[in-house]
Amino acid sequence: MSDATLVSFEQALSRYEPVIGLETHVELGTVTKMFCGCPTVFGAEPNAAVCPVCLGLPGSLPVANRAAIEFTIRIGLALNCSIASWCRFARKNYFYPDMPKDFQISQYDEPLCTDGWLDVTLDERVFRVQIERVHLEEDTGKSLHVGGATGRIHGADYSLVDYNRAGIPLVEVVTKPVEGTGALAPAVARAYVTELREVLRSLGVSDVRMEEGSLRCDVNTSLAARGSGAWGTRTETKNVNSLRSVERAVRSEIERQAAVLDASGRVMQETRHFHEDTGSTTAGRSKEEAQDYRYFPEPDLVPIAPSAQWVEELRAGLPELPSARRARLQAEWGLSDLDMTALRNAGALDLVAQTIAAGAAPAEARKWWLGELSRRANESGAELADIGVTPAQVARVAELVASGALNDKLARQVLDGVIAGEGTPDEIVAARGLAVVSDDGALAVVVDDVIAASPEIAAKIREGKTAAVGALVGAVMNATKGQADATRARELILKRLTAS
Ligand SMILES: [Zn+2]
Repeated sequence: MSDATLVSFEQALSRYEPVIGLETHVELGTVTKMFCGCPTVFGAEPNAAVCPVCLGLPGSLPVANRAAIEFTIRIGLALNCSIASWCRFARKNYFYPDMPKDFQISQYDEPLCTDGWLDVTLDERVFRVQIERVHLEEDTGKSLHVGGATGRIHGADYSLVDYNRAGIPLVEVVTKPVEGTGALAPAVARAYVTELREVLRSLGVSDVRMEEGSLRCDVNTSLAARGSGAWGTRTETKNVNSLRSVERAVRSEIERQAAVLDASGRVMQETRHFHEDTGSTTAGRSKEEAQDYRYFPEPDLVPIAPSAQWVEELRAGLPELPSARRARLQAEWGLSDLDMTALRNAGALDLVAQTIAAGAAPAEARKWWLGELSRRANESGAELADIGVTPAQVARVAELVASGALNDKLARQVLDGVIAGEGTPDEIVAARGLAVVSDDGALAVVVDDVIAASPEIAAKIREGKTAAVGALVGAVMNATKGQADATRARELILKRLTAS
């Protein structure tokens, strides 16, 4: 099928309505694997964290990890799901070299959590994303294909397998189809994964690092002709591993499928791979013939039957969830919706919260993190949290400004010093001599010099044109390299020139 005729996103949306769905795989942060006692370390020597159970040796028997089940129930509760009072693991049978048992233990028709939802706010609209299921399974090992050009098995001289990841507990969160998003479909997909990630982080069940693969998404996209009421064939873009890529993958699939449909083609039901470099997807495995994994209940494991009492204990122990926390902080801080969105998008919410906790006024904390510090983070390409200034240091700088000891210009120089590793804000003020000059004696000398140097402006002010005073204040600031107390300088100038 040729995708030759390009269709823009706007053109695609004028003719087709997108439907999206997301399957998110989350590696749980348990100490041990799902069905054995092997550690779940990241980056260990290949095959250092394995045992007969996760290698699938004959005669070995799995035992379910209670902590992983507890984490999964907590996730289900946070996503407003019903928790099954009785359910089973299932064997998903297939041959693959990185799964030596030739089956994966997963959940099939009896997931632990079902029928939940997660609200996603975008442009002040709330989209309620329905959650179909949250189930628990084990991860597979990793294959490494050596010798080929692409790192794929095709063309490789030989392959190596690392079973360290085999048996790591994975949770899969599956949404129902999300309709009615229109042109916002890519943004809703991204906002959903962002919100889900924050929920998981607040629960402490995973480190949710997308770059390390502890959270990855399969993104389903389909298009239906506007007004047709019919659903299109969906594609599944696998293992999208950044928030930005989730958005781009949906966008690219909408454009590609629209081009296929415009050319009277048929969208194939298939998995696709997203490419970071081009921002587009390419075809993977066809799903026209549904695989038959011959699922059956896992006979080596007892059913999971969480008691109502245990579930209620877990519900009572849930932390404040991110949406509730944001609403509370916004009310406490008195910031606008726009401010809160900006803080979130900049990754500054926690930094601002910590800065306020360290004594800064909310408006000041917002101003420094979203203004000066965001600008520097953008310039250096660093995350805001990694630019080398702590919330406590920002709070101290804000305090020095509030007390009049620093003005904004000097405060920026203090931040320069902190980022350069010169010490604490107070040490830098002392070492660089950055305190505001508000001492009347010192300031009066500068004011007299400035008036003497600008007789024409001085004359205007004497005639009552006090708007001209700004120019002289500017000259005072220049003469003091920004260290003068501007308010006091203005008062002194006016006193000199307008006193009767
Ligand atoms: Zn093991």
